[in-house]
Amino acid sequence: MKAVRISQTGGPDVIRFEEVAAPQAGAGEIVIRQRAIGVNFIDTYHRTGLYPIPTPSGLGLEGAGEVIEVGAGVTRFKVGDRAGFCSGPIGAYAEMHAVPAARAVTIPDGVSDDIAAASMLKGMTARYLLKRTYPLKAGEFAIVHAAAGGVGQIAVQWAAHIGAVVIAVVGSAAKGEIARTLGANHVIDTSKEDIVKRVREITNGEGAHVSYDSVGKDTFQASLDSLRPLGMFVSFGNASGAAPPFDPGILAQKGSLFFTRPTLFTYTRTPELLQETADDLFEGIAKGIVKIAPPTRYALADAAQAHRDLEARKTTGSLVLVP
Ligand code: NDP
Repeated sequence: MKAVRISQTGGPDVIRFEEVAAPQAGAGEIVIRQRAIGVNFIDTYHRTGLYPIPTPSGLGLEGAGEVIEVGAGVTRFKVGDRAGFCSGPIGAYAEMHAVPAARAVTIPDGVSDDIAAASMLKGMTARYLLKRTYPLKAGEFAIVHAAAGGVGQIAVQWAAHIGAVVIAVVGSAAKGEIARTLGANHVIDTSKEDIVKRVREITNGEGAHVSYDSVGKDTFQASLDSLRPLGMFVSFGNASGAAPPFDPGILAQKGSLFFTRPTLFTYTRTPELLQETADDLFEGIAKGIVKIAPPTRYALADAAQAHRDLEARKTTGSLVLVP
């Protein structure tokens, strides 16, 4: 079968499209013939080495398709079922992938493979951030960074459904329009506006209750300065580079703030937590609380281009690779 491989970390040019041995289902595993593969920012961190992985390696954590082989001891899936996964193992950028059944989820009939691959990792992230990390309440001010991106578009819709006042932070006017359409109450365009000044205006000087910050380095200070006393800084990504190390005393100075650096894996660490999170997302999609825009599709062979576009801030919504 064909698969994406890297033999060393680096820029998008390290991505190779190669013939490799087809996977076989080990004990407890299923093999999925993938029809759509999710592209996530974390894949670029694996490629660059920001999150170190041993090389040579495959790339990608997320995919959806049909179960074609079931390993010993697997009872939750049978051949012919539809299944998806979004927490690896790394190597999803391939025609087929072997996945522990405990890390796979069933996909309901109303959700296509494209939509599943576009929404599982990003939507489950939005779900745990809004419902578990800082359970958002109606009327609270919530800052959503990269609001027109993959996670961002889902988070904006879900936060608006909860009834929060959504302050969407985006990098261009066009992205601001997307965020508004999805339900953002306020848009801050970082190409021409100052985040802290605008958040203070919007919140009558008090600051936001929470900042869901996926941008990292470039927005670290702005998130700290935009929160009200006892506000929650949720630092969950590094799109502009890793957030800097800091003195915990800064949280005291800024108003006894809370700070967390959560991961999807912790919030879905058991099969039960994983399926519960997936079910809530799929229910949200079925009820129209969260509308997943058709993802931008790239051929699996064009994975390097998908990475270039994602890193250049050219994309909105989700990207999928199609084998
Ligand atoms: P996005 O579609 O959100 O793409 C990243 C966006 O970040 C860009 O479109 C851009 O939007 C913004 N951005 C701001 N500064 C930069 C920069 N210097 N370089 C590149 N992008 C920048 O990606 P995903 O939805 O896949 O992921 C969003 C983030 O969430 C990532 O940081 C990812 O690592 C994180 N994440 C964390 C998880 C967790 O559990 N901790 C799980 C899933 C994702 P704009 O132009 O509007 O600023």
